[in-house]
Amino acid sequence: MSEIIEQAEIDLIKTSVNEIVNSIPPDVMLVAASKTRTAEEVQAAIDAGIKIIGYNYVQEAEKIFQIIGNQVQWHLIGHLQKNKVKKAVKIFNMIETIDSVELAEKVDKECRLNNKIMPVLIEINSGEESNKTGVFPEDVDRLIFQIKDLPNIRIKGLMTMGPRFGDPENSRPYFKTTKKVFDRFKDQNIPNVEMRYLSMGMSNSYPIAIKEGANIVRIGTKLFGTRCKI
Ligand SMILES: *Cc1c(COP(=O)(O)O)cnc(C)c1O
Repeated sequence: MSEIIEQAEIDLIKTSVNEIVNSIPPDVMLVAASKTRTAEEVQAAIDAGIKIIGYNYVQEAEKIFQIIGNQVQWHLIGHLQKNKVKKAVKIFNMIETIDSVELAEKVDKECRLNNKIMPVLIEINSGEESNKTGVFPEDVDRLIFQIKDLPNIRIKGLMTMGPRFGDPENSRPYFKTTKKVFDRFKDQNIPNVEMRYLSMGMSNSYPIAIKEGANIVRIGTKLFGTRCKI
């Protein structure tokens, strides 16, 4: 009986992956936000064509990494604690959530020890919410100028969450704010600052995020189904 349920669930994940992949432009990268999912669920998504998986917590990623390994690219999409940098550098191919000089320096140093260059995105707190991570839009310039010449990280763009809304239309202004910062840096053509990736949009908001310029979307619920609270 449970095998039948599992197979039905795996089929659902495959259908969802196909639907989303077919509904987004080919130049938009899809990150499967995989927090709380089992390795079987994540593998089903990979079998259906997922190329990048995103994790919020290093410890959870580490567990799944032991099973899934390098079949896919790994993006860190949650806040990185400084005491987890060592492990994060070993697992992830991109860190989307750099928001302080200290964190950038720590990642840079750890990458140097591991002979790695880490592509990073700057996380923007586009809603300027005091309880959220990310750097405020008005503080981005200072952060970027302080970290851009670190030898073992490469700034590749921006990421934002924005405030959570029931109606995704309410997210649009925060996506616009982030895109403005993205374009401003792009136009400046600063050495060591490449504005290539703009990561924004989740299950309910990704179509709007793409219209506002996102080329990375991070989707969980719409791929895997509703999360159980853990
Ligand atoms: C969980 C999560 C997502 C995906 O959210 P869904 O609403 O489940 O699609 C995207 N980005 C981050 C940073 C997340 O933590």
